[in-house]
Amino acid sequence: MENIKTISAIVSAGKVILDFPELMDGTEIIFQILSTGGVEINPEINDVSEFQSEKVQVKKEKKNVEDKGTTGDKEITGNEKTIGDKESKKTEGGSVSDRITTDSSFGDLQLEDDLVRAVEKIGYKHPSLVQEQSIPIALQGKDLIATAQTGSGKTAAFSLPMIQRIRAKPRGKIRGLVLAPTRELAIQIDTSLLDYAKFSKIRHTKIYGGVSQNPQVKAVKKGVDILVATPGRLLDLISQGFIQLADVEVFVLDEADRMLDMGFIRDIRRIMDMISRDCQILLFSATMPKEIVKLSDQFLKNPSRVSVDPPSSTVETIDSYVFFVEKKKKFDLLLHILKEEDLEKTLIFTRTKHMANKISRWLTKEGIKASAIHGNKSQSAREKALNGFRSGSTTVLVATDIAARGLDVLDITHIINYDMSNEPETYIHRIGRTARAGKSGVAYNFCAKDEHPYLRDIERLIKQHLIRKEDYPFRTNLKEPPITSLNSNKSRNNRSRRKR
Ligand code: AMP
Repeated sequence: MENIKTISAIVSAGKVILDFPELMDGTEIIFQILSTGGVEINPEINDVSEFQSEKVQVKKEKKNVEDKGTTGDKEITGNEKTIGDKESKKTEGGSVSDRITTDSSFGDLQLEDDLVRAVEKIGYKHPSLVQEQSIPIALQGKDLIATAQTGSGKTAAFSLPMIQRIRAKPRGKIRGLVLAPTRELAIQIDTSLLDYAKFSKIRHTKIYGGVSQNPQVKAVKKGVDILVATPGRLLDLISQGFIQLADVEVFVLDEADRMLDMGFIRDIRRIMDMISRDCQILLFSATMPKEIVKLSDQFLKNPSRVSVDPPSSTVETIDSYVFFVEKKKKFDLLLHILKEEDLEKTLIFTRTKHMANKISRWLTKEGIKASAIHGNKSQSAREKALNGFRSGSTTVLVATDIAARGLDVLDITHIINYDMSNEPETYIHRIGRTARAGKSGVAYNFCAKDEHPYLRDIERLIKQHLIRKEDYPFRTNLKEPPITSLNSNKSRNNRSRRKR
């Protein structure tokens, strides 16, 4: 396919922003897959590496972009999606609006008219759950802890109230600060701000590491009202005297748990120490690990809480089995299953990065094509691992929870929870990686003695018992846990026991 080029891009708010200088000379192109809501070539973005993570296939020399740029309803699910793969769009169970929105209207949320107009212009018809719940709280100036994941509409949930507050008196001083763990996310948020602030006279820009700081410094010097930043580059520019945070009135910490996973917790503390005590803080995180709870206890003032459950409907389409196995036998069991059952595309979850590495190494030694992704891997190493898994050159991907967040790989046939998730919500995130496109999926859970309580918590959350697997090697000799009631701590409910 000589006319096909793979280039980097990012999809956000229904737009594809391309970073490919050749395309700016008016070359006629046709997109293999069209995003909805129009296609925009952003002349400001000149660094290909910015968008390493996402690939778009573009076929040159046919038609003009505008001919095909709009397809009406948005279908893109999640902020960063690979386009170039029609299947992946169909698989998520309908459009974004179908999946995440409520019945209420943006007009009900005390947003000013032209902010409502801005979201309507993008094509949002109803607020998502996290938007419906968070926006009124944030508009009152309160601190907020929102448990919501990527794809829930959280960017608008914090951006719209922040814009409403800041645009009342834009002065070109940083009054809104959004901290994001990765440059991809920072770019994505800043791109969304373009849409959300369409009719608001505010200036915003983004700063992140890995690229020259000069254009970023120049942009900041011009005066911005909202800054989107990754922690390292922000601290760098602060220490060089280019940025100061004294005027910040609204501070958003996005994907706080991922920041923790990426080792940014100290940087975040340093940044939060620089911010005025009166500053409104909006903290968004998919999960609430202890460190993040501690952080919020320390810095947030009487925060309101919003929690958006991950879609639990996935639970119903997945056969989830539990194997009782001692810790030291888990790898033997894994190998047995992978070999005997000839699993095709398997995602394995471990609790620690160290274990993810170890398993991937051991499997490779056993002749199974495996790789690992976790927060300590560089962006390019993660991309490589993901691409290998997507293309099928590796059949097993071993991941930690946060690294696997938002992972969009089609046709994952099996999830193996090598370690049981200690937060029951995480279990739903994990198994949601399979059973896409209306297909059924299978999840295997390896449960050691000390993990029995996690099993019980998961079963209570999903309100069903996992299937107790029978007849498998390396089964523990230790006493297996009884089937507990899905409601109470004490009673048992053997009737709902399912065996296979
Ligand atoms: P986020 O969770 O902010 O990363 O958003 C995920 C995706 O949902 C993005 O493509 C948004 O443009 C889209 N989105 C956010 N809010 C809405 C909404 N109320 N209606 C439809 N799409 C939305």
